[in-house]
Amino acid sequence: MISTSIREIASVLRGRVMQGDPAAVFTSVATDTRKMRANALFFALVGERYDAHSFLSQAVAAGAGGLVVSRLEDLPPGVPVVMVENTLSALQSLAAYNRQRSGASLVGVTGSTGKTTTKDMIASVLGARLRTLKNEGNFNNEIGLPLTLLELDESYEAAVVEMAMRGPGQIHTLCEIARPMGAVITNINETHLELLGTLSNIAEAKGEILEQIPSVGFAVLNAESPFIQREAGRCRGKVIYYGIDQPAEIRGENIRAEGTGSRFNAVIGGQTREFYLPLPGRHNVMNALAAIGVGLEMGLTVEEIAGGLSSVTLTGMRLEVIEGGSLKIINDAYNASPASTRAALGVLKDLAGGRRTVAVLGSMLELGARARGGHREVGETAAALGLDYLITVGELAGHIGEGAVDAGFPPEKVFRRQDYDSAVKILEGLLQEGDVVLVKGSRGMKMERFVQRLLERS
Ligand code: ATP
Ligand code: MG
Repeated sequence: MISTSIREIASVLRGRVMQGDPAAVFTSVATDTRKMRANALFFALVGERYDAHSFLSQAVAAGAGGLVVSRLEDLPPGVPVVMVENTLSALQSLAAYNRQRSGASLVGVTGSTGKTTTKDMIASVLGARLRTLKNEGNFNNEIGLPLTLLELDESYEAAVVEMAMRGPGQIHTLCEIARPMGAVITNINETHLELLGTLSNIAEAKGEILEQIPSVGFAVLNAESPFIQREAGRCRGKVIYYGIDQPAEIRGENIRAEGTGSRFNAVIGGQTREFYLPLPGRHNVMNALAAIGVGLEMGLTVEEIAGGLSSVTLTGMRLEVIEGGSLKIINDAYNASPASTRAALGVLKDLAGGRRTVAVLGSMLELGARARGGHREVGETAAALGLDYLITVGELAGHIGEGAVDAGFPPEKVFRRQDYDSAVKILEGLLQEGDVVLVKGSRGMKMERFVQRLLERS
């Protein structure tokens, strides 16, 4: 955070300094006593399960140099305290203020899948020329986004942040805090369908980001989604499209698997350029095309962009390829939707190169009315790819097995199990040296347990 005094903070937050020296200055904030930097300003957030006002002394003991609270009981003595109406709104207001004072150009990334991955790629690209801040991991909501923006100080030239939503109006709120210059919408699919009902409602809610782009700004949009194209008119700035199967300003072609990565061409303004990405899968090439678009709009050269992409590192459990003894394990256990699972099955096939393929797939949650169909389609893809074994975990995932068998997957090679213990037994029973195993499912399914077990054996 740009250095700010308690007096100024109180005025921005429309709060009151209750104790301590109003001239004390702060350069960082915290909301978690376990992740406290020395002399941070601690915001006592009130959650559903716990209330940080119970930890104020702990926060000071852990190094907090000041407190923002919405109640005055049990204040530890000595440290500056600002009293506000609501500590979460206060965190957001201070983030918006800090972001406005920073000169960084900010890019917001939203979409149904691939936000974190695309954000990491954009950060790597922009980092080739500009000092760039990105949100850590999946810090993409009404708390994570402000915490990220509060990391901005005078030294940053660019920032890229992931923006998630669960309903209409949320992206709008995040954008009012973050003030993006550029927007990326990666795709629209069934993730969160349960909450929004239709794909076009999802597109409309994600599209809120476009209205917040200034006329000098830009949007980089997926050309393969008709839902996204329908929203494009909401952007006052420049709109550029990327895609592989559709005409686009940035068009990917000739994708070749190379080791665990991908080499591909991008046709940009009539010129063909070659890129290497250390990640597998067509979907990652799509994410990379979005990052190329952002790089070009932010004024980087194609060489800088190519350099940035070739050194991308991702946040964990997203299509991590692990050599576990004689097995190759593809750990995609972070989360799952039908689109991302079908993409991951394609990667399993690509990386196997003739070795036996085993897909261990957990249920995909939050699909609402699309639950059965979404699972069945994944099974159909597994059959079409000619994978060798399919193990499903959980009730909904059973529909994957059903769809697979109906589409011609040999029934004796499909195992539908309800829980981890019975599924892991099947897996261990059928594995042979050299097998390639994909592990994927919704976050709630904790599919990483399979990966840990496989690594323990190897
Ligand atoms: P969340 O909503 O949980 O924050 P996210 O949108 O940030 O998810 P990632 O974490 O980047 O998405 O990726 C989630 C999963 O989707 C991973 O399994 C990844 O392999 C897969 N994936 C990444 N990009 C795409 C894409 N463009 N299309 C389909 N699947 C993708
Ligand atoms: Mg994410």
